[in-house]
Amino acid sequence: MNRAAMVARLAERTTPWDFVVVGGGATGVGIAVDAASRGYDVALLEQHDFGKGTSSRSTKLVHGGVRYLEQGNISLVMEALKERGILRQNAPHLVSNLAFVVPNYDWWEAPFYGLGLKVYNVLAGKYGFGNSEILSREETLQRLPTIKTEGLRGGVVYYDGQFDDARLLVNLVQTAAEQGAVLANYAPVTAVSKGADGFVDGVVARDLESGRELRVPAKVVINATGPFADGVRRMAEPEASPLIAPSQGIHLVFDRAFLPGDSAIMVPHTRDGRVMFAIPWHGHTLVGTTDTPIDAPTLEPLPMEEEIAFILETSAQYLHRAPTRDDVLSVFVGIRPLVKSGDSKLTAALSRDHTIHIDASGLLTTTGGKWTTYRHMAEDTVNQAADLARLPERACVTKTLNVHGFHSAPEKFESLAVYGSDAPAIRALADGDARLGARLDEALPYLAAEVVWAARMEMARTLEDVLTRRTRALMLNAAAAVRMAPVAARLLAEELGRDQAWADAQVADFLAVAKGYSVRA
Ligand SMILES: Cc1cc2nc3c(=O)[nH]c(=O)nc-3n(C[C@H](O)[C@H](O)[C@H](O)COP(=O)(O)OP(=O)(O)OC[C@H]3O[C@@H](n4cnc5c(N)ncnc54)[C@H](O)[C@@H]3O)c2cc1C
Repeated sequence: MNRAAMVARLAERTTPWDFVVVGGGATGVGIAVDAASRGYDVALLEQHDFGKGTSSRSTKLVHGGVRYLEQGNISLVMEALKERGILRQNAPHLVSNLAFVVPNYDWWEAPFYGLGLKVYNVLAGKYGFGNSEILSREETLQRLPTIKTEGLRGGVVYYDGQFDDARLLVNLVQTAAEQGAVLANYAPVTAVSKGADGFVDGVVARDLESGRELRVPAKVVINATGPFADGVRRMAEPEASPLIAPSQGIHLVFDRAFLPGDSAIMVPHTRDGRVMFAIPWHGHTLVGTTDTPIDAPTLEPLPMEEEIAFILETSAQYLHRAPTRDDVLSVFVGIRPLVKSGDSKLTAALSRDHTIHIDASGLLTTTGGKWTTYRHMAEDTVNQAADLARLPERACVTKTLNVHGFHSAPEKFESLAVYGSDAPAIRALADGDARLGARLDEALPYLAAEVVWAARMEMARTLEDVLTRRTRALMLNAAAAVRMAPVAARLLAEELGRDQAWADAQVADFLAVAKGYSVRA
C-alpha cells in the first residue's frame, strides 16, 4: 500500500495488463479483488481518493432491500440477502446485525408488515440474520424509547446488516493489493487509447502528485466510475448515448440522544412513497435518505434545502423530540449510478440491478447495483471481461476470501474495532507515544495514531482523506472535524515528509470542503 511503489509499477509496465479498471469505488475495487484473486493481472486508477464517490456516502446498510420486496423484485432481494450473508462471513469486523423496528400506528400495519418481513427472512434462507417478530406497544417503546407515543400500537422488528462503507472500501483496496493488484489514487484517467483496429487498448492517466502522464496498456479497460460512467464512455465514443440517470440522496447526522437504543427505525412509506431509516451509527444517529434526480454528477454534491426539510419533517413525525436544523451535526450526499430505463423521470422507480455494457470500441462499463452486491457484480464483470479478452477461464474465489482486517470478535478493540486485526498495531502506536495516544477532539473517539496509520498503511494522501474516509470525522460531526484539522494536518505532514506550508494549505482545502457538510448559517 505504498503509493510511490504502485505508481512506479504502473509507469514501468509496457506490456498490457489483463484488465485496467477505471474508478476506485465499491465496483472498481471489488473487480480488482476478484480479478487479482483469480490470478489475472490488474491495475486500478482512481481520480481522487478511493471511495471519494458514492461508496463512502451510502446509508451504511448491508441489506436485501425491503423496498425492492414491496416492488416485487424478488430476485434482486434474494441475491442481495445472500451477498449480505457472504459479506458478514468475510468481513465480520465491519458488518454487524442490526434490529430494525417498523413502528405501527394503524391497525393493518402489524399483520401487513409482519407478513412481508417474514417473507424477507424466508428469502434469506441459510443466510438469515434473525426472525422478524411482532412487538407490543411496550416492547416497541423499550427498543425505541424516543419514538412518538401518540397513537402508537406496536411494531414489527426485523434484522439486517450495517457497515462502515469507506472502511470496507479501504480494506478491499488492501485485499486487492495483497492479491497482487496495483492500485493508485489521485490518478485520473484523461483519455482512452485505441489500437489500429479501432478497439480500446489502454488508458492515459495523470499522476496528480508528480504531474507525470501514465500510459497504461490493457487487454480490456473496465469503466467502473459509477455516476461518472458516461464521461469515461464518451472518451472512447464521443457520441455514446447516456446510460446513467444520476439521482442524489442526503443523510443528516444527529446526536445519539435522538435514538438512544440499539435498534434502528424503518419508516416504510414516506410522503414521497419511499422508505426512510434512522439508524445508530458510530455513536450517532444517521437519518436518510432522499432520491432527487440531478443533471450531472460532481465529487462534492450539496444537499438541497427541500431535502433537508423533508428529512426533518419525516423525523418529526416519528420522534418524540423533533430534531431541528441546529441539531444537525453533519449532512452528506451521495449520487446513485442508476441505469436509465426509457424516459422514466422517477429515479426512485429505476432498477438497482447492475448492468454490464460493452461499447462498439470494446470498452466495458459496469454500473448500477448496490454496495451490498459489489462482490457478485465484480464476479459477473470479471467473467465478461475475461471472455472479451479471450483469457483462460479461472474460477471466482471471493465467496470465501477474507477481507483485510478480518476478525471475529473486534468489539474487544473498543473504539478501534473497525480496524479488526489491524487494531492491536494502532493501539501499540498510541501506547508507544503520548502524542499519538491523544484524542484529536473530545467529541469523537479518534486518536492521533489513526492519522499516522492512515498515511503509513492505508495510502491516505490528504487531510480530507484522513478526516472523511480513513476516519469518519467529517461525516459524524463537521464542527469537530474542523477543530481537529490543524493537529491532524501537522501529523500527516510529518508522516508524508511535507512542511508546515503544505499542512496549512491542507487545512484551508479541508475547511472549504467541510462547509458543504454543515447546515448551520
Ligand atoms: C444516498 C445513497 C445511499 C445508499 N445506500 C446504500 C446502502 O445503504 N446499501 C447499499 O448496499 N447500497 C447503497 N447505495 C448504493 C451504493 O452506495 C452504490 O451502488 C455504490 O457505492 C456505487 O459504487 P461505484 O463504485 O459504482 O461508484 P462510486 O463509489 O461513485 O465510484 C466511482 C469512482 O470513479 C471515480 N472516477 C470517476 N471518473 C474517473 C476517471 N476519469 N478516472 C479515474 N477515476 C474516476 C470516482 O472518483 C469514484 O471514486 C446508496 C447510494 C446512495 C446514493
